[in-house]
Amino acid sequence: MKKIDDFNLEKYSRQIIINEVGENGQLKIINSKIAIVGCGGLGTSAAQYLSMSGVGHFYLIDDDTIDLSNLNRQTLFTEKDIGKSKSKTLSEKLKKVNSSAKISFQNKKLTSKTISSYLDSYEVILDCTDNFESRILINEYCHNYKKILISSALQSFDIQAFIFASWKEDNNPCYKCLFPNISGDLYNSCNEMGILSSTAGIGGLIQANLALNYILGLKVDFKELLLFDCMNFNLKKIRINKDKKCKTCNK
Ligand SMILES: [Zn+2]
Repeated sequence: MKKIDDFNLEKYSRQIIINEVGENGQLKIINSKIAIVGCGGLGTSAAQYLSMSGVGHFYLIDDDTIDLSNLNRQTLFTEKDIGKSKSKTLSEKLKKVNSSAKISFQNKKLTSKTISSYLDSYEVILDCTDNFESRILINEYCHNYKKILISSALQSFDIQAFIFASWKEDNNPCYKCLFPNISGDLYNSCNEMGILSSTAGIGGLIQANLALNYILGLKVDFKELLLFDCMNFNLKKIRINKDKKCKTCNK
């Protein structure tokens, strides 16, 4: 592996001195490839911190434009950005955080036909979407194509987060094992749920932290549902096993 250059050595010095990171770990972060589906409250927060950590390749996917009501939680977007494309605007902002990162964006919705062409070159996929239709599609793709899927969902003060690798070991669950009864038709949007500004930020940060732990080769539990209550500051971890009847990961 090639050596880290002086600029990056200084830029990332405060994390390089951590035993679990070091120069090798920083190089892993710089060489990592992360796709973020959904550039809203979760996606902007995760993207900002992953970019600050030195992640060198991003793919940002969102077909939406920035709305005034997004600004309470979608960090990096400002009043001047209203009406602009979320994915393009986020890519421009991330470029200012790390000018050497390779950042691509897609201003379209994921479909079963396009998902493979968008996500194939990325090892870690962050599901930051707000609808079950997309979550089911991304979960199926990540299982079939052996991608690491990091998912988070928000409601008022509550966050649930999970890192999935349902293809990796027999008993690892997928998103559908957790929520066997949801379907895209039933609950098409989480749009109308209330979300506190800082709770959305923490939800994205948990995803970013899980991604960095995985990239650094640290301990990651693919069977653990994290439930964080930001009002009482309770963190619960719930063990989830593969659903033996799951139609997605137990075929
Ligand atoms: Zn499953």
